[in-house]
Amino acid sequence: VKSDCILCVAGCGIDAYVEDGRLVKVEGMAEHPLNQGRLCPRGENLVEFANAPDRVKYPMKKQKGEWKRISWDEALDTIASKLTKIKEEYGAHSLAIFNGSMAVENIELASFTQRFKGAYGTPNLISVESFCFRIRVIAHLMTFGRFTSEDPLQAECIVLWGNNPDESRWMWADHIHQAVDKGLVRLIVIDPRRTPLAKEGIHLEIRPGTDAALGLAMLNVIISEGLYDKQFVEEWAVGFEELKKHVKQYTPEKVEE
Ligand code: SF4
Repeated sequence: VKSDCILCVAGCGIDAYVEDGRLVKVEGMAEHPLNQGRLCPRGENLVEFANAPDRVKYPMKKQKGEWKRISWDEALDTIASKLTKIKEEYGAHSLAIFNGSMAVENIELASFTQRFKGAYGTPNLISVESFCFRIRVIAHLMTFGRFTSEDPLQAECIVLWGNNPDESRWMWADHIHQAVDKGLVRLIVIDPRRTPLAKEGIHLEIRPGTDAALGLAMLNVIISEGLYDKQFVEEWAVGFEELKKHVKQYTPEKVEE
């Protein structure tokens, strides 16, 4: 069966082998553009995850220190009566709902949680997105005007700044290694560590804690040599003159020290 791994937001393509309704083997889908046939250790253990004997598949209730299976009706009645009590005693706003990741693997759950939140009358919905993904979306919107998505195989130049995708995003690392091997991309790695990709590109092995100085020196050169989009700055930037004055002192020669 052609499917995808739902153990993280990457959603790698998998070939799933099923016998008598039971998952027996998974392989990375060779033709999938993201993972190109590979899986991370978590994805490779998907069979164990799906068939784990202690996986919770029905409601459980702790009674006298032990977990006991209960019916769905009993579970729903218990939850409903407790939620009603909380609302009566403390008001609907006293309830905060925490949802796991609301991305691809949980999109249906997210819509049900939103509806439940509205029906109960609380505005308090939090998820891993509240302190991770949404913040990234907002930063992208403020910086680029939209949410951008990396596509290393389409890039002409890649700057990895304090970023080691071989450890954190192996599928992008694969794409970058391939692009470098084929001579399609210029790679610059800014990192005190000699990461696998640092060995394949221009490596700026800066001292830990000096990233800001390097960034200011880069801004100094970009502004003093007029290498920026002047129309964009005029239309959209705030405080550009102050920035210009501030970065003047950070010459490459000074920062090099
Ligand atoms: S990175 Fe690993 S866990 Fe995430 S979707 Fe791919 S195989 Fe699954």
